[in-house]
Amino acid sequence: MASILVTGASRGIGRATCVSLGRAGHRVFATMRDPSRTPELSAIASAESLPIIVSAMDVDSDDSVRRGVGDIVAQHGAIDVLVNNAGITEDDLFIRMKPSAWSNVLSTNVDAMFHVTQEIAKKMIRTRWGRIVNISSIVGLMGNAGQVNYAASKAAIIGFTKSLALEIGSRNVTVNAVAPGFIQTSMTDALASEAKVALETRIALRRLGTPDDVANAVLFLASEEAGYITGTVLNVSGGLYM
Ligand code: NDP
Repeated sequence: MASILVTGASRGIGRATCVSLGRAGHRVFATMRDPSRTPELSAIASAESLPIIVSAMDVDSDDSVRRGVGDIVAQHGAIDVLVNNAGITEDDLFIRMKPSAWSNVLSTNVDAMFHVTQEIAKKMIRTRWGRIVNISSIVGLMGNAGQVNYAASKAAIIGFTKSLALEIGSRNVTVNAVAPGFIQTSMTDALASEAKVALETRIALRRLGTPDDVANAVLFLASEEAGYITGTVLNVSGGLYM
């Protein structure tokens, strides 16, 4: 049983990952911006008696990250696995994209990952065991019109993952990325139904993914059994990108 911190656990992939990890018997620190606004995960955890502890952490605030991680470590001990999941989009065509849309997306998707990971990796290095799983996107590999900011952020996550894997592999800490395709969450809710149908024809498995499809990949990369896998990008896209 590992102690696992997940960012952005209020909904979508983050929430499904916490449930999946909790059901597998791991102790999960599910962090989210405002637990009082999003009580769903707590409700699932208490209904199923899962070892999930919900706490507040806004990854955009260094102070909140330091306090959030510090409180968890002080109360519960070391964190063995980190899942950097929190992410946002602010889509627009490049020519119209406001500088704030660029900086907001890079800040939440990349800068925050730097701060959260630095806070936690130091302790993993000291204990000589750790798993870091970063949620990227196939868009970071193949690009996507209207998502220059988001695609750049998700490509940055891949460069970060590989470089950090090289730096801390000798300390028995693995660093991997999961690159989901199109997954049914609030992030893809905005897609028109005709766009979803058109998209499905390009997906080998002919369906959008579910949050559980991604959670299963995270569960594997977080496991003891994945101990010889590092610096890799695991696509969970139903064959949309190969
Ligand atoms: P959702 O929009 O459903 O969830 C995003 C999560 O990130 C929410 O829990 C949200 O919290 C959280 N979040 C955003 N900003 C912050 C912040 N500053 N601090 C803490 N939490 C924050 O999207 P998904 O579940 O789909 O996305 C999860 C991850 O998967 C993201 O990194 C996304 O880029 C990636 N991804 C998603 C794909 C998809 O098709 N859905 C495809 C590829 C990658 P809050 O409730 O407070 O807003």
